[in-house]
Amino acid sequence: MCGIVGFSGKIPAAPVLLDGLAKLEYRGYDSTGICTFDHGEFFLTKKQGRLSNLAEATDDGKNMPGEAGIGHTRWATHGAPSDVNAHPHMSWNGKIVVVHNGIIENYLLLKEMLTEKGVTFQSETDTEVACNLLAWCYEETGDLRSALLRALDMIEGSYALVVMCKDVPGTILSAKKASPLIYGFGKDFGFVASDVTAVLRYTREVVYLDDDEIVEMDAEHVTFLDRQGNEIQKTPEHVDWEISAAEKGGYDHFMLKEIYEQPTAFAKTISPRIRDHHIVLDDISLDEEYLKKLSRIYVVACGSAYYVGCVGKYVIEKLCRVPVEPMLASEFRYCDPLCDENTLVLIISQSGETADTLAALREAKRRGARTLAIVNVVGSSISKEADDVIYTWAGPEIAVATTKAYSTQLAIVDILALYIAQTLKRITKEEYDTILTAFEKLPEQISEILTEENVEIIKQYARQFHQVEDVYFIGRHVDNATCLEGSLKLKEIAYIHSEAYAAGELKHGPISLIEDGTLVVSVATNGMLFDKTMSNIKETKARGAKVLGITNRTHAQRMLDTVDCEFVIPDTEPILQPSLSVVPLQLFSYYVSLERGCDIDKPRNLAKSVTVE
Ligand code: GLU
Repeated sequence: MCGIVGFSGKIPAAPVLLDGLAKLEYRGYDSTGICTFDHGEFFLTKKQGRLSNLAEATDDGKNMPGEAGIGHTRWATHGAPSDVNAHPHMSWNGKIVVVHNGIIENYLLLKEMLTEKGVTFQSETDTEVACNLLAWCYEETGDLRSALLRALDMIEGSYALVVMCKDVPGTILSAKKASPLIYGFGKDFGFVASDVTAVLRYTREVVYLDDDEIVEMDAEHVTFLDRQGNEIQKTPEHVDWEISAAEKGGYDHFMLKEIYEQPTAFAKTISPRIRDHHIVLDDISLDEEYLKKLSRIYVVACGSAYYVGCVGKYVIEKLCRVPVEPMLASEFRYCDPLCDENTLVLIISQSGETADTLAALREAKRRGARTLAIVNVVGSSISKEADDVIYTWAGPEIAVATTKAYSTQLAIVDILALYIAQTLKRITKEEYDTILTAFEKLPEQISEILTEENVEIIKQYARQFHQVEDVYFIGRHVDNATCLEGSLKLKEIAYIHSEAYAAGELKHGPISLIEDGTLVVSVATNGMLFDKTMSNIKETKARGAKVLGITNRTHAQRMLDTVDCEFVIPDTEPILQPSLSVVPLQLFSYYVSLERGCDIDKPRNLAKSVTVE
């Protein structure tokens, strides 16, 4: 995955490209590069490492002349991060430059074919193969458009490609298949990018390109084409996101900003779906007739979105009495899943571009299942391909470690569970009312957790525990699922080894790892299971563990009798507690990571939108 930009206008292109790339760095950040075009010459600068290296090397773009250019921020798939493997790639004959997001699957075959023709290569990337292939096709056709169409016929894999040619000043050609690409309309400029955040400062009118579409632009014109090269019409959409929403807005890190945005994001996500104390999902078509035949639900996702599915299993099964199986997308796609037309597959992905999840969605459809996507990015591949889509209205999430996307995905799962339960009459009117009333209060209750006083408590725990080497998260029922997310957060951004176990499972093995001073974090909010979890905590304390407990007000005093320190969250309905208990776990990871001096928004080895398998 990576971020790509292309700009053609009547002002210097390089500073605009650098600015756009800064908004896309979350998509990949192991190397960067830009290439501008001026008076028949390409000016190319590429640097391993962060965008700041490129900005320095180009004097913030000032030493790169030209009013058209392309840029890239990379997350390597083929060839290590290095200056030479960084994009843009230039063809062996110096005619073509290309930036690319995705993977050219048949690049070895193509490379062999081109090498036989005498073409030479500088890098280890698949992208350079696409670049040279295009240059070869250009030699044959003498026309950039036809060359691109011919090259695309030969390429297998995924791509958003942005291309410039030495013979066509100011023109930028882009093509998309299974990697995101948008076009931003401007007066006297055209702008292509992986994501709207890159163009928002310049325009709010954008076109989301579909797979197999091509856009050709210069400063004054734009033409959209299909894969056969026929002109097509595309309707621009107006983007409402505030520019500040895509920037840090005064917080030290995007992650902290996004943690604090959760009450608003949650409210924005749920409020259009609740009218007169009633859930209304008129954007989807799951009617009573279909739901009555429903035999099984899969929740298919990766990472934190998968853990949303783990909470979802408890919630949906409890309310709807339908079997629910959360599955990792990378497993689902190859496990010969049991799907038929009575199977509903919920697909969850923040970006809507997660490669494994997209492939799992296609597999589910191929097997005749009904698919419903929960995604944050409008116009993303998953949103387009699923039978139905419910958007989370979380706004752009920039930090690699998800917070508000997780919360809003969970909100949608809760809404869906209530909707199905009510449609199938599996819960009484009173239960429905009680849960919905509690649900509507959640944004306010998340705000209560985020008060200065509470955050100070978490900061203090972070100072106390930031040097630990191992952490075990334990909980039962939904608290167990919340622990999975809490543990992942700590691994992702604080680089601390941590595991999450169902509290009752500890004695079947993992308890042997507990020794003097080991940190155990226990989430215990469920009244029925509270004493059981306290017993499990005592078992760890007897072996020297230090225990940080997360509980609700009802159980605060009793928990304090057992643990070393605690954090108290508001009470809500038992199945809704995860929306609250996850918040202190996010904050804990954030402040532990801060204490350890980690790169919170861009943790090592990770990238935001995982568009490779
Ligand atoms: N496959 C290309 C590379 O490794 C592009 C990776 C990306 O999408 O950043 O350079």
